[in-house]
Amino acid sequence: MTEPALGTSPGRVNLVGEHTDYNDGFVLPIALGHVARVEATPRDDGRVLISSAQLGESVELEELSPGPRAWWGYVAGVLWALRQRGHALGGVDLALDSAVPLGGGLSSSAAIECATALALDALAGLGLSPAELAEVAQAAENDFMGVPTGPMDQRASLWCTTDHALLLDCRTLTPEQVPFALPDDLVLALVDTRSPHVLADGHYAQRRRACASAAEALGVRALRDVTPADLPAALSRLTDDEQVRRVRHVVTENARVLDAVAALEAGDWASFGRILTASHASMRDDYEITVPTVDLAVETALACGALGARMTGGGFGGTVIALLPVGSLDSFADALGAAYAERGFAAPGLSTTRAAAGGIELSAAR
Ligand code: ADP
Ligand code: MG
Repeated sequence: MTEPALGTSPGRVNLVGEHTDYNDGFVLPIALGHVARVEATPRDDGRVLISSAQLGESVELEELSPGPRAWWGYVAGVLWALRQRGHALGGVDLALDSAVPLGGGLSSSAAIECATALALDALAGLGLSPAELAEVAQAAENDFMGVPTGPMDQRASLWCTTDHALLLDCRTLTPEQVPFALPDDLVLALVDTRSPHVLADGHYAQRRRACASAAEALGVRALRDVTPADLPAALSRLTDDEQVRRVRHVVTENARVLDAVAALEAGDWASFGRILTASHASMRDDYEITVPTVDLAVETALACGALGARMTGGGFGGTVIALLPVGSLDSFADALGAAYAERGFAAPGLSTTRAAAGGIELSAAR
């Protein structure tokens, strides 16, 4: 009997580069310390059993076919994608145990997909490349589950490395490791704003359409092809005011990612912080995807001495990141709790993180 194989892969948080992925642009995530683990044990009867320790549920599947599925589809979809690519994988037990909070914008779905891909790769000795691991994990989400997400989450979960952010070019899918070792006097705080993502799906689709039609009007393949130098001329060709704001966000946000990389490479945390705050203002004023809970968290962080702060993720709630002097963390926690209570918002969550190891680094270290 073959031994069980383990796959481990983390959640992620995007430092800057929001709504740039579907415009062929740039993103800059780091991996988090919370990881998903999947243990794969072969079965002789050809069946597939999937369990989740968090949900206390398990399912047994006789055949795998794509379509909207419950939670287990993110795991089953990876096995399906590997079989689609011609890998002869038989029956298997896949036991899932994840510390990445579900649905909190920290990419619990990619963490479980990537952990499954690593576990199956190890079990069957497939020797998949980093690019292939990411492709099968993304196929589980896009093609098996039918969720139209971009290329960032799975690559962040797999490819990030300790004390680095991952600069991902969403057109070429080429990664670059950028130093992100926080000095001892700074912390990266994560605020869970506890805001429900009301109507977020419709807003997301509207913005994708606005970007696609602006790119068409400007005669470019994607908004990534509009540079900051081209921006004034490009904006003057658009007649719709809302479209002007959407394009301005995407073009300036792509430039901010590259500026953030330059700041990190120079160890210039003050500039990096200012870029975070500028990104937030652009999401609030031009892309119009923030909500009062996230704006309040950002304002409170800045009032407490943060070098920079912004919402991260698709918008309408979710997580705020703030780069703070270590000595300001306690006063930020107090001020944040008080500000939320005063506005009648549910008490926010607060934690800190560093740039942790991605799934490939974790499996190499075993
Ligand atoms: P995010 O990836 O930002 O956390 P998603 O909506 O993309 O949010 O993915 C969350 C979904 O992933 C959950 O609703 C569930 O279906 C699945 N999931 C994630 N972690 C687990 C887990 N530990 N057990 C079962 N399902 C999980
Ligand atoms: Mg997800």
